[in-house]
Amino acid sequence: MKKLFVVLFLLIPLTAFAENDLGIKEPLKQGGFYVGKVAVGDKVTFHGERVKISPEGYFAFGLGWKYKDVANIRVDHKAGGHTMYRLDVLPHDYQVEEITGLPPQYVTPPQEVLDRISKDASDVRTVRTIDSDLQNFREQIIWPVEGRISGRFGSHRILNGETRNAHMGLDIAPGQGALIVAPLGGKVTMVSDLYYTGITTIIDHGHGVNTVYAHMETSIAKEGETVKQGDPIGTVGMTGRATGPHLHWGLNWYGERLNPAILLGIE
Ligand SMILES: [Zn+2]
Repeated sequence: MKKLFVVLFLLIPLTAFAENDLGIKEPLKQGGFYVGKVAVGDKVTFHGERVKISPEGYFAFGLGWKYKDVANIRVDHKAGGHTMYRLDVLPHDYQVEEITGLPPQYVTPPQEVLDRISKDASDVRTVRTIDSDLQNFREQIIWPVEGRISGRFGSHRILNGETRNAHMGLDIAPGQGALIVAPLGGKVTMVSDLYYTGITTIIDHGHGVNTVYAHMETSIAKEGETVKQGDPIGTVGMTGRATGPHLHWGLNWYGERLNPAILLGIE
């Protein structure tokens, strides 16, 4: 009895993250992805926009990497009245490399490459707007492949005072050919060979949540296929513009790029 009491006493001051009645742990983090729950029939507004809610009351949202201050969520109750939530957002610590006095470089690829890059970008944008009713975003995420983290989300260069090329994914480098599995179930919405990201797969997990797998050596899951969590989707490679074999793993909520490392609980 005495032992139990001591353990509980020690745990209380360490619990910095508290769960609110939406089921969301506060404070939130820049680049974070969150799933909340309201009563059936309630409506949720985030940033003045209605958020998609499942029949059971679940909803998803994410915060951009430079998201400021507080996230305001309004819940309009089916029974009448509303509740405002002001959720604090912690600034995230990103790796920054500052470079000054460097002359700007103008490297213009040939027109056919420019055309391809712009088509790739537009195809990816289209897939990111998919707004399905899938519920896989609620699953407890697993790693797509385990290995050394070779690039963190949000790391960037500041070149002559200007933020450049912020890295909008998590790089995992387990070695060429390692098997990549779906960290959440969903529907494969794109398998394509793109100029920058090489063999690329995108999976829709519902409610605007999707994940991207880039630089793969091979793709396994086919476009249009439904995958379960843990199903093989491809192997690690260095197709596209990559300096070594690694998986570039992106997590998005519609067009918003989020930090997979927060979802994995390693940042
Ligand atoms: Zn990357």
